[in-house]
Amino acid sequence: MPEAEDREISNISDRSSTKVIDRIAQITKDLPSTVKLVAVSKYANISAIRAAYAAGIRDFGESRVQDATQKQQELKELDDICWHFIGSLQSNKAKSAIQRFDWIHSVDRLGWVQQLDRLAIETGKSPQLCLQVKMAPDPNKAGWDEYELMQDLDAIQQCQNLNIVGLMTILPIGLDRNQAYDLFVKAANLAEKLRSQGWSSLQQLSMGMSGDYDMAIKAGATLIRVGSKIFN
Ligand SMILES: *Cc1c(COP(=O)(O)O)cnc(C)c1O
Repeated sequence: MPEAEDREISNISDRSSTKVIDRIAQITKDLPSTVKLVAVSKYANISAIRAAYAAGIRDFGESRVQDATQKQQELKELDDICWHFIGSLQSNKAKSAIQRFDWIHSVDRLGWVQQLDRLAIETGKSPQLCLQVKMAPDPNKAGWDEYELMQDLDAIQQCQNLNIVGLMTILPIGLDRNQAYDLFVKAANLAEKLRSQGWSSLQQLSMGMSGDYDMAIKAGATLIRVGSKIFN
């Protein structure tokens, strides 16, 4: 009975679309107007992304260039989606990343900054970039700690073809809420310090995920990256 089967599949997908739409409404109802919700769709299928779009989401985050490329193809007609790259960059994907994403949140070392600077000239593309920083020692995470960032600052600022707009941070796992809040504040203070030293374009703070975005907002996040709370 193929028809009954089709109906069943469409009921399941209606149900999961409704869930996605409800979750988004729940998150956005308390969201200050200064904070952009990036729906992290790295584990979401096309119909879930369409549901999120229908709920008003225009910013989607992906952590693999190849997966994102495929989704972008399938969603071509939704041409006002803003795509955010949040994964770790691989050098053979850097050119695709700069061409296919409006934002790259996860620029995590000087070599990348310099390569993206060259690629910006070559491709004529200059997405919004965030520098990934570590506010606590974490061997599992990429990014600059504050000391390393200060060391690289001059070299970064020499890359004049880039549009570096802020900082991004991911916290170590296993923190309690107060510890999380303190580290988000530390990231906000670092951005403030860099602005006060003349880097006035550093306005964005990409921080906070499903488990801790409320703390990140309290500390001054301008972009939150929420995946499982929307799509799981
Ligand atoms: C997966 C991912 C997220 C989303 O995490 P959730 O806990 O599912 O909300 C946010 N940021 C980065 C960098 C990610 O890789």
